[in-house]
Amino acid sequence: MIDEGYIKFEAEWAEEPLGDYPQLPELIQYRQQLFALDWIGAYPDGIGFGNISVKLDQWDHFLISGSTTGNIKELTEAHFSRVFEVDIDANSLKCKGPIIASSESMTHAAVYQGDSSIQAVIHIHNKPAWEAFQFKYPTTAADIPYGTPAMAYAVKQLVKQIGHTGLIIMAGHEEGIIAYGLSLQEAMEQLNTHLL
Ligand SMILES: [Zn+2]
Repeated sequence: MIDEGYIKFEAEWAEEPLGDYPQLPELIQYRQQLFALDWIGAYPDGIGFGNISVKLDQWDHFLISGSTTGNIKELTEAHFSRVFEVDIDANSLKCKGPIIASSESMTHAAVYQGDSSIQAVIHIHNKPAWEAFQFKYPTTAADIPYGTPAMAYAVKQLVKQIGHTGLIIMAGHEEGIIAYGLSLQEAMEQLNTHLL
């Protein structure tokens, strides 16, 4: 079952303009590349998938594409949110911006918590790679659904084992793949190397 598009965590959202971030143009540029490849996009029923984030100066703050933006062709500063507090145990986070943070923000936070040098996280959907790579690459267990604290803990644990650059397959989240690295370019290269 494809269960994208639902906010499972408790989000405290302050609706306000995003503000100026030097990281934003590059974030949008990579998001558009991912959209062109259909790694971020929407299913025929309109439900969007995939998201992208970049870490800000404070180690636990990051900018992430907003909820239900997968189906939007051109993203702007109106489509990103700043996540500034995450509590995996409580499955809750705080964000501020013109849109509520992606429903998969908790998974992104878990990656950043797994290795503090990681600067960028990309979550895509790709069925062929998801099927081919399960348990060939680091993979979260099939009985762990996305958007749960269990998924966050599993991802964090894998990142600790893998290190600051890698690819994770989420067996319990259909088509779900995570790539991350020391920059957006490095995270993107993980996908290009393995999927193209
Ligand atoms: Zn997903």
